[in-house]
Amino acid sequence: MEPFRLIIDGKKVPTRQLFEVLNPATEKVMGLAPLGTEDDVNDAVAAAKTAFRKWRDVPERKRQVACEKIAEKLEQNAEELAQLLTAEQGKPLNGLGSRWEIGGAVAWTQYTAGLSLPMKVLQENNEGRVELHRRPIGVVGSILPWNFPVLIAIWHIVPAVLSGNTVVCKPSPYTPLTTLRVVELMNEILPKGVVNCITGDDGLGPVMTSHEDIGKIVFTGSCGTGQKIYANAAETMKRMTLELGGNDAGIVLPDVDPRQIAEGLFWGAFINGGQTCAALKRLYVHDDVYDEVCEELVKFARKMPMGNGIEDDVVIGPVQNLKQYGIVSDLVEDAEKKGRVLLGGSKKLKKNGKGDDRGYFYPLTIIADLENGDRLVDEEQFGPALPVIRYKSVDDAIEKANDNPNGLGGSVWCRDITEAKQVGAKLECGSVWINKHGMIQPNAPFGGRKSSGVGVEFAEEGLAEYTDIQVIFS
Ligand code: NAD
Repeated sequence: MEPFRLIIDGKKVPTRQLFEVLNPATEKVMGLAPLGTEDDVNDAVAAAKTAFRKWRDVPERKRQVACEKIAEKLEQNAEELAQLLTAEQGKPLNGLGSRWEIGGAVAWTQYTAGLSLPMKVLQENNEGRVELHRRPIGVVGSILPWNFPVLIAIWHIVPAVLSGNTVVCKPSPYTPLTTLRVVELMNEILPKGVVNCITGDDGLGPVMTSHEDIGKIVFTGSCGTGQKIYANAAETMKRMTLELGGNDAGIVLPDVDPRQIAEGLFWGAFINGGQTCAALKRLYVHDDVYDEVCEELVKFARKMPMGNGIEDDVVIGPVQNLKQYGIVSDLVEDAEKKGRVLLGGSKKLKKNGKGDDRGYFYPLTIIADLENGDRLVDEEQFGPALPVIRYKSVDDAIEKANDNPNGLGGSVWCRDITEAKQVGAKLECGSVWINKHGMIQPNAPFGGRKSSGVGVEFAEEGLAEYTDIQVIFS
């Protein structure tokens, strides 16, 4: 494999220094990434700014075709990307893992390529004609997390270029390589400078968020970093889409069949090893079905193999990095003092489950009898540990679900869909799922309320966030 380089102005640009990227399943170096500098960011922004002058005038249909070709290109290279993603991110190749993520990226690109924001006539009468146009903003800075390095890159980049912007993308230092490869493939289709990719440490982020030639930041990551970005971007009045952390609640009502919902609850909580913004992170269960729901969930979870994602039967991989592993361990140890460990927990730690003590493997953990106020309930674990809370009155469960600064998603589990929707309507979050959790799709806007973010992604509403409105009166 050729060494990875930055992608600036359609060229592969070497850097003086490289940094190591670890495979979280083995803790061994799986690749070297270019260590970009502030000068590299400036070069990338300059290239994107120059490319914008032409790209914004390319007819929309041609930009749509370019996005369709990106989808084809990803599909042609799907297996290579999936293997790289598993080695770098740790998620399994199979199940809801790397192949699924690349498939999702292809589907998202295909769907988004068909979107359009046509001019609207607001008025046409004797007093004149008023037209509403959507204009691209300019250079978009995309800053990525480490949990879905391909899918989230697609969510940022494709609507940006489709609507006539150009992009400088910065992946997480934990997962730089697959995103670099994706941008390299995009550059086989797009004119030079339309999409650039800079890898390096966290310090590159503030260079982007204060850069006067970047007109918009699209950021997916933690609430803390989102707040810094919001503040840092104020001086240059950047447009902003912030998709931040979640602490999604699920409320199980008393009429459910515990056995039937166990699989949905499990994957809602443990998809990508729980390292998913809109995973189910707090489970409120009615007293009438509490013990049975816990039992069925644990029974299902016990059957789910964890291990190195390159093995065929593995469906859950390791925590992606040591820092996150520490956060999960800390929260579980605190919860163990208060709750009842039904599965996993710190005493079951054996790293990769094979006894060779390598890899950031944290056992699937379910801890019952916790309450709001306990850290595992209040704070985002972003890992394979689920707190379960007993409730007696639905109003009380709704109040507890809302008693959190985050408001990304929430779910209601109930046979009676009308009742479930009534409960869902009271949840202070951007998405509500009934009898499932975390399902997102490219034709439905997705975003957080409260501290979980600003703006939405996907569908026409998400696309519109990559434009400024211009009204022409004639
Ligand atoms: P993070 O905030 O630590 O890092 C995200 C990115 O921000 C990285 O690329 C990092 O280099 C960069 N960064 C760090 N400091 C910066 C700064 N001061 N200015 C600009 N950029 C900076 O997040 P993470 O640990 O990679 O991801 C986990 C978090 O992301 C979780 O909280 C999760 O809920 C959230 N997330 C949200 C969504 C969503 O759509 N809402 C999706 C995925 C992840």
